[in-house]
Amino acid sequence: MENDAVRPREGGVSSGPCQTGVVLEARGVTKTYELDGVEVRALCGVDLQVCAGEMLAIMGPSGSGKSTLMHIVGLLDRPTSGTVTIDGVDVSRMEPNELAAVRNKRIGFVFQSFNLLARTTAAANVELPLVYAGVPAAERTRRARAALERVGLGERLHHMPNQLSGGQQQRVAIARALVTEPSIVLADEPTGNLDSRSGIEVMAFLQELNREEGVTIVIVTHDAHVARHAQRVVEIKDGRIVNDVRVTDRIDAKAELDALHEAGDGGAGTAVAEHGAEPERPDERASVGSGERP
Ligand code: ADP
Ligand code: MG
Repeated sequence: MENDAVRPREGGVSSGPCQTGVVLEARGVTKTYELDGVEVRALCGVDLQVCAGEMLAIMGPSGSGKSTLMHIVGLLDRPTSGTVTIDGVDVSRMEPNELAAVRNKRIGFVFQSFNLLARTTAAANVELPLVYAGVPAAERTRRARAALERVGLGERLHHMPNQLSGGQQQRVAIARALVTEPSIVLADEPTGNLDSRSGIEVMAFLQELNREEGVTIVIVTHDAHVARHAQRVVEIKDGRIVNDVRVTDRIDAKAELDALHEAGDGGAGTAVAEHGAEPERPDERASVGSGERP
């Protein structure tokens, strides 16, 4: 049923060309891994344009090549053949240090498993990309704090990852992705390891970031419900794009949270819903964290 929403049959509409310009483009991208002498074709000629300011979901079953594609368009890995361009610049042949500079400046990553450094505080984790960018210490501290406050973790600056719930750890990871003020955020199954409420909070935050700051967001998911939070869904199967549609019945995560709140869900009043100008409410926040700690 949910899948119907992203198929261009009755209600769906094929996505047209970018109206706002192309920020990220993969052209004829293939990726072949070699594992114990056997070739694994993860991507078989992918053409994808990501439009400036859009929220795009890449959906497909496990093993379909989603992460491989994200790593390639996110400049973490190189294609076997084909090209990747960012703002029209071909990055395929860039030297590693040049590539790292473009990545650090333009792209923020969020991963399913958070990828935080253990035994390192939330603040230090968020500062890390700024260390690589050569930002002075005092400014790093200030910006890391601001990023953590934004995701509602101003009270958790000095917590270690294992002292935070899964939802909170993912918010630290989002703060780390945002601290460099990237214009593109790539999120690979960001809700995959979270309980449903924390997952909705993450989606609400990503939607807000997209809507209010025009950050281009690409989210990978195998879940059609998560995909419907995006404006456009690209489906991938066996390393090929098999569908590319605009979402006609988009889900607003903030409304989902409000509905949960009205239904009397115990975890109400969480950071994502209130991370704007509202004052801190550490008591409620603490109750969210303690309820979902693994
Ligand atoms: P998804 O993220 O959609 O689950 P992946 O991009 O991780 O899919 O993987 C696509 C295919 O490539 C799978 O068959 C997977 O086993 C294979 N693959 C991914 N990474 C590697 C690797 N480093 N070495 C060998 N095979 C890999
Ligand atoms: Mg994956």
